[in-house]
Amino acid sequence: MTDAIAIQAAIIEQPGGPFHFAQVRMDPPGPGQVRMRIVACGVCHTDMVMRDGGLPVPFPCVLGHEGAGIVEALGQGVASVAPGDAVLLSFASCGACPACDDHQPGYCAEFFPRNFLGGQSPGEGGLWRADEQIGSNIFGQSSFATYALAHEGNVVKVDADLPLAMLAPLGCGIQTGAGTVLKTLQVQAGQSIAVLGAGAVGLSAIMAARIAGASRIALLDRHAHRLELGRSLGATETACAMDALAGPFDYIIDTTGAPALLAQAVDLLAARGTLALAAAYPDGQTFPLEPASVMSRGRRIIGVVEGGIDPKRFIPELVAYYRAGQLPLEKLVQIYPFGEIEQAVHASESGAVIKPVLLMES
Ligand SMILES: [Zn+2]
Ligand SMILES: [Zn+2]
Repeated sequence: MTDAIAIQAAIIEQPGGPFHFAQVRMDPPGPGQVRMRIVACGVCHTDMVMRDGGLPVPFPCVLGHEGAGIVEALGQGVASVAPGDAVLLSFASCGACPACDDHQPGYCAEFFPRNFLGGQSPGEGGLWRADEQIGSNIFGQSSFATYALAHEGNVVKVDADLPLAMLAPLGCGIQTGAGTVLKTLQVQAGQSIAVLGAGAVGLSAIMAARIAGASRIALLDRHAHRLELGRSLGATETACAMDALAGPFDYIIDTTGAPALLAQAVDLLAARGTLALAAAYPDGQTFPLEPASVMSRGRRIIGVVEGGIDPKRFIPELVAYYRAGQLPLEKLVQIYPFGEIEQAVHASESGAVIKPVLLMES
């Protein structure tokens, strides 16, 4: 039995932010929970959606869902990791519904409450400021802090020699792009693919398309420097407007979340081609769709959450690609000290940096 500990956390008090640092009290890990010392945490676009109240997170709260760290203490019943293990954190899932049983935890029946609401099961630990409970357990982790309480189900053990700051984003942004290509779409050698958006998800899809051996790999983005980076990662052609994309493509992945692009994307699909919707789409957004253009060409449109993968199975595959030099994350990642979280978030929002990663240790 371990005691409560004092930790440093970046707290959002109310929708819109900003992040501010405070010392808070972390309960001991409850049943099934794992306490990590956080080494690094990536900044993901969804953190900004949550910060701005676009998802119903409980304020005040601690965000951060691409944590990486060292296991420090275990709650009752945890057997698959041990103190001292290096781990990457991913999203939370129940582990018991039909989707979880099918190794598709992104479609877990409890995905929404477990990742966005920070709901805690009875006996699980959380965060406190004096007697006030702070929203935690976001994505089953809340890793913009020096420590996090995650769950046995969303920690993935990795080799101790790996650079955790580089690998932290595997648990959300990177697996979303790479998983969509390699697992959900199962792109094959010689096929063609277009990726809309050259953020972390889109560029991960580009790297994965090269791993898959796709022949044509097109990338669309407004920023010339991102297209240039995309070429160095495997894009064989680039475009700064939909009209400049030369279809047809066997696969198109949308990572932009811009509905205006989607109707055009359907028309760029080859016969039996698939459009994968892999971005965040605010409620109520629609796009015009001509059913005949889908039916008569045998096209498909599918949604993808977190790449449609099981992190416990897929993250080790991504680590192997990283070791082999096929997933050069150094080209996407820029490290910031934890104290510069506002600068890191701003760099992501402005498009200047693809994947900011916060380093908790000074
Ligand atoms: Zn994310
Ligand atoms: Zn489930």
